[in-house]
Amino acid sequence: MLLGDNNMAVTEPGCDLTTYSRVRGIVSFLTAFIKERKMGLNDFLQKLVSNPQICQHPDVRVFLQFDQNKPEKDEQNNSALTNLGFENLDSSTETLVKPSDFDYLKIIGKGSFGKVVLARHRDNGKYFAVKVLQKKMILKKKEQKHIMVERSVLLKNVKHPFLVGMHYSFQTADKLFFVLDYVNGGELFYHLQRERVFLEPRARFYAAEIASALGYLHSLHIVYRDLKPENILLDSQGHIVLTDFGLCKEGLEPSGTTSTFCGTPEYLAPEVLRKQPYDRTVDWWCLGSVLYEMLYGLPPFYSRNVAEMYSNILHKPLLLKPNVSNAAQELLESLLQKDPRKRLGVREDFMELKFHPFFLPINWDNLLAKKMTAPFIPTVTGPTDTRHFDPEFTQQPVPSSLGKSDDLLINSNFHEAAGAFPGFSYAPPAEDTYL
Ligand code: AMP
Repeated sequence: MLLGDNNMAVTEPGCDLTTYSRVRGIVSFLTAFIKERKMGLNDFLQKLVSNPQICQHPDVRVFLQFDQNKPEKDEQNNSALTNLGFENLDSSTETLVKPSDFDYLKIIGKGSFGKVVLARHRDNGKYFAVKVLQKKMILKKKEQKHIMVERSVLLKNVKHPFLVGMHYSFQTADKLFFVLDYVNGGELFYHLQRERVFLEPRARFYAAEIASALGYLHSLHIVYRDLKPENILLDSQGHIVLTDFGLCKEGLEPSGTTSTFCGTPEYLAPEVLRKQPYDRTVDWWCLGSVLYEMLYGLPPFYSRNVAEMYSNILHKPLLLKPNVSNAAQELLESLLQKDPRKRLGVREDFMELKFHPFFLPINWDNLLAKKMTAPFIPTVTGPTDTRHFDPEFTQQPVPSSLGKSDDLLINSNFHEAAGAFPGFSYAPPAEDTYL
């Protein structure tokens, strides 16, 4: 029976149901049809925008409405793409980056969600550290929020001398990619393990650069939370570069507190262990732990037995052997103060550390301008020299699949269905491009 053919049939039992099923059939057919066309158009648009030469063609620009409303970056939502349900296409999509833009040379590290790979940009030969995260692992551990925080923190901080800079982020169906500065002096931990302890001037230099980076993050209302030697790298000139912003807590005002339990066991502050709310002073505890380990060769309160270590952190008084200066001991005592309300930095944050006697030899302006000569310059013959990275990683084969997943590329700037990571992809505006 046709839709309009409903004279007697309307009264027949089950007729409403039949009509309803038919209408539903037609609707779902039309929905599927429109969806397919939309996907086809999406593929077509992706191909267009990923080819810079085609993008420059005047007709293509008119079609994509690239030049309309362009000065107002935030007001580009009324473009043709938005009308089709795609959001926030901005001028950055003209420089869309994809996995096959890079040659993947060596595995240089491993984090909780994936690998860090040394990669060379195919067009300009520049080297980057590409952090490749498996979406599956992140979703399994429900860590999407941390990853998005890492992305946004990396974006906010590309301009600080002691924080790693991010150039791009993009995603394929199963992976997230962060394209970062390649920092090849090795982990601080690696050098510390080889030398057991650092002399005071060297430890002071690193502690000062770390403190300056943390103070900067705090000024942006970000708490780093996960300071540990593995996240502290040295660049080829011997300066500090902090990486791994996966555990940062964004949006903490100076008096703000949070209570998520995370961080590395050795450096957990007592208030974090007690699951009490904590604030930016937690970073000064961690700095105290790193400084202690640089000077004494082991973390404070260390025990092989983790339960005992936790108990030590909570209850055991800090033991300071006399082989370091009084100023260093005094600084360690005030940073490793169990009560965060009495910890150095609780009132004026970084300013309080800056004027501590231990840091007297530091000229903070010169430090920030990288005018202070580093106490140790890592030997590297060139960008492909990965001698400061653990052979456990560098000897692993690089998965050949890495640069071959372009067809699965998702530019979430204009693709609504980016799974749990909408808005992840990022490319700098043309004038900021590092490449
Ligand atoms: P992450 O997942 O950030 O903890 O990184 C894991 C390891 O990869 C680090 O401990 C470093 O050894 C290495 N790594 C991370 N980022 C970089 C980078 N930008 N340059 C060089 N090595 C890095």
